Amino acid sequence: MDRKLRVVVVGGGIGGLTAARALLRRGLEVHVYESSPELKEIGAGVALGPNAMKALRSLDLEDAVRGIGYHAPVQFLRTWKGRMISKTDATLAAQRFGANGCTIHRADLLDVLAQSVPVGAVHLSARCEAVTTSDSGAAARFTDGTEVEADVIVGADGIHSAVRTSLFGPDAPQFTGRICYRSVIPVAELPAKRLEPYEGLWLGPHGTLVVYGVRRGELVNIVAHYEDATYQHESWIAECDRGEILERYRGWHASLQEIFGAGDIWYKWALYDRDPIAVWTRGRATVLGDAAHPMLPYLGQGAGQAIEDGCVLAAALDKLGADPSAALQLYERSRRPRASRVVLTSRSRGDDNHLVSPVAALKRDVAIAVRKRLGSDVTGRGEGWIAEYDAGSPAALAG
Ligand SMILES: Cc1cc2nc3c(=O)[nH]c(=O)nc-3n(C[C@H](O)[C@H](O)[C@H](O)COP(=O)(O)OP(=O)(O)OC[C@H]3O[C@@H](n4cnc5c(N)ncnc54)[C@H](O)[C@@H]3O)c2cc1C
Repeated sequence: MDRKLRVVVVGGGIGGLTAARALLRRGLEVHVYESSPELKEIGAGVALGPNAMKALRSLDLEDAVRGIGYHAPVQFLRTWKGRMISKTDATLAAQRFGANGCTIHRADLLDVLAQSVPVGAVHLSARCEAVTTSDSGAAARFTDGTEVEADVIVGADGIHSAVRTSLFGPDAPQFTGRICYRSVIPVAELPAKRLEPYEGLWLGPHGTLVVYGVRRGELVNIVAHYEDATYQHESWIAECDRGEILERYRGWHASLQEIFGAGDIWYKWALYDRDPIAVWTRGRATVLGDAAHPMLPYLGQGAGQAIEDGCVLAAALDKLGADPSAALQLYERSRRPRASRVVLTSRSRGDDNHLVSPVAALKRDVAIAVRKRLGSDVTGRGEGWIAEYDAGSPAALAG
């Protein structure tokens, strides 16, 4: 093909904008269609592991993300009563995996990504309702009746993807019986006025608490998981009463009571699980990010996997651009096994975090300490294979 390949990306979130950046750097013509009237994110943090940071490095975005993110010098893992299970020095992860992780406000990450693509490449207030594909191209139809054609269409339209439904039919989410509370609070409003007494992962019976800094450590992001089968609303923006959280985590460590008391606005989100999807690609259309592999948040890998997808998709289209259908198959072969494994590992990590039996929890904690002591496993939780991966390396493409 002599002319530039024309790619339409549906969805201007973390995955869609990363893919656009990666595709533009490979010299392709890219148009992003986003349903919202502006590029914006919900007020929450996102953890980017070493794998995500290496992918961003390959797109020349690592420094910009690090500049507005937060870098915990130590990762703390504690029990709900405050006993330290493990401490992981950030420099160790950097040595072992070639990059340190980072935590960032979602809006700050989206700003960095949005600034990395030309304004004219993003079309706002464009809600896609269906995608069709043939041997020679694909087309996306929008709710205002317009249609755009492209050589390739990429559905990066999130967990409730219209592109995925249009290509493969509706999914079958299963309610997990778990919910999440979350808030973002200025560190200056915490009683201790610093992060350290609160930060890290806290594991307790029926629940997990995740506390980390964002925006250079000026804000703290809290995600509090708990088992509750009565609330089943899968929304990221439904508010709830702080009193409910204080009551639920009564008996957890005093630092956590302080942090709950400091948050004015809390959100409540029911967690749904989905099995890995068997097919991502049909003809000239494919999916990426949450549209391809929605996952539970226990590994903090949803955004990281979306970012990896964009890098690998661009490499595949660069390599086999003369045959776009083959390029999309190469992308899927390269990405689906890994992303599916992350989906399943996130599921089992949730079970491991929420152990109720004190004996089972102690066995888990001892196993973590032993694995760390043996030296082969940096965090002691067997996730080195996730952090090792480098989406920017030619080896990320399947043979
Ligand atoms: C509170 C919270 C905390 C999280 N924490 C972490 C974490 O710590 N680490 C981590 O790695 N992941 C985390 N995740 C998950 C991670 O944010 C997602 O996996 C990631 O955002 C996926 O990116 P995406 O681009 O695929 O989807 P999204 O970010 O959802 O973006 C989809 C985009 O598509 C647009 N869109 C939707 N439908 C249409 C349509 N029909 N037409 C056009 N546009 C459309 C949406 O407006 C949106 O802009 C968290 C998620 C939440 C909600």
